[in-house]
Amino acid sequence: MAESRYVMKFGGSCVKDGSTVRRSAEIVRDYVERGCRVVAVVSALSGVTDGILEALASAERGREDEIRSFIERLGARHENACAEAIRNGDLRSSVLGEIRREVEELGKLLSITAYLKEVTPRIRDYALSFGERLSTRIFWGSLLDQGVRAEYFTGWDAGIVTDDEFGSAKPLGITYQEVRRRLGPLLEEGIVPVVTGFIAATPEGVITTLGRGGSDYTATIIGAALKVDEIILWKDVDGIMTADPKLVPEARPIPRMSYDEVLELAYFGAKVIHPGALEPASRENIPIRVKNFYNPSAEGTLIIGAAESDTVKALTMIRDAAIILASGVGSSEALNTNVKLLDLLARVGAQVIMISQASSQANISIALPREDLKKALKAVKSEFAEDEMKVNCEEGICVIAVIGSGMRGRPGVAAKIFNAVAAEGINIKMIAQGSSELNISFAVKEEDGVRALRAVHRAFGLNAA
Ligand code: ASP
Ligand code: MG
Repeated sequence: MAESRYVMKFGGSCVKDGSTVRRSAEIVRDYVERGCRVVAVVSALSGVTDGILEALASAERGREDEIRSFIERLGARHENACAEAIRNGDLRSSVLGEIRREVEELGKLLSITAYLKEVTPRIRDYALSFGERLSTRIFWGSLLDQGVRAEYFTGWDAGIVTDDEFGSAKPLGITYQEVRRRLGPLLEEGIVPVVTGFIAATPEGVITTLGRGGSDYTATIIGAALKVDEIILWKDVDGIMTADPKLVPEARPIPRMSYDEVLELAYFGAKVIHPGALEPASRENIPIRVKNFYNPSAEGTLIIGAAESDTVKALTMIRDAAIILASGVGSSEALNTNVKLLDLLARVGAQVIMISQASSQANISIALPREDLKKALKAVKSEFAEDEMKVNCEEGICVIAVIGSGMRGRPGVAAKIFNAVAAEGINIKMIAQGSSELNISFAVKEEDGVRALRAVHRAFGLNAA
């Protein structure tokens, strides 16, 4: 692996405190000592992003007392981390100085916000940016402390330029050449750029964020720009699992998956990787490896263009869903009405999880998040006359998605799924197959969800041996 080039992302769970920051930095040092070139991308210390969001909520309520105590705790936590992660006294005090300055800036921002009692998306992203700025400084200090040549970058200094969709900004095309121009020469010299994950800026320099879990995205953007050999995402799980181990104790890590399969999983709510993160990597065909920081000898999951096409690789479940059943239209107009209906849902921002329609009937079932149900029903009732469309709904639903590229064109997979569910005496409310044939999804009553999930997991031999 000498001379191999990597982008490594350290998630919040790998940077909990000073000692984990130091251990993460040691991983980078080990790769560099073996002759590899590394870019490190760092998330906020675990829980800090959520903490800042809570502090913003306090600010909206004008609670200066809550903000003060938050700022004190935040400052203390990062100062302690600094003390543990950086041993050299001069280096430590210079990083401490930066930390204090940043914490003070955030404090000022929050107290102005508390005064106005208003948090705009732009202010939210600005405030959130401090989480990554603080953690990444300390990470950088720890690398220097361990004798690694390294340079600190915010996302924008690294060249990541986005649109102004605050809260889920997308990189603009110029990002890739900018990142190459700014980081490329350092990498060639063997210097480690240490970059804040998650945060970037518009061309005008206004700070944006890439969406929750966005450090994954930062890593793949940089990886694609520099055309590295591999992007390693260090997390606190043994890789992408066949199912959520909290729901299915027999779940196990999946050795190899394709970009498409992972995208499908992410779409169905599995929090495995930021969904946007797959695009830059798949475009440049750069492998992504998900590895466990707490169990580094485990293989993890390798995400590549074409993986083995086992019939079924992974299951995921979306809870708190609802179904809308729309019917009553004359069958000749059915298609037109259904198109109008879906367009309407998109316009009011109701997310469609799955759709099914029996071709012989003029009715359509749509599964959506329960929190979107109210606005969806309201919109449908105001847009369609009662004799034009009858609408029923059912709450307390969960949707299970069965994912694997090997299902494509292979008969019997659906039968196997539904036999397994039927054998448990569970009634299926709705079924759909994605046009990519990468997934079959079905809806059951909330209370049947976990049992159905386990039954399908077992039926396809996904349980750990
Ligand atoms: N700190 C951000 C979050 O918690 C980004 C990340 O961790 O990737 O969502
Ligand atoms: Mg985080």
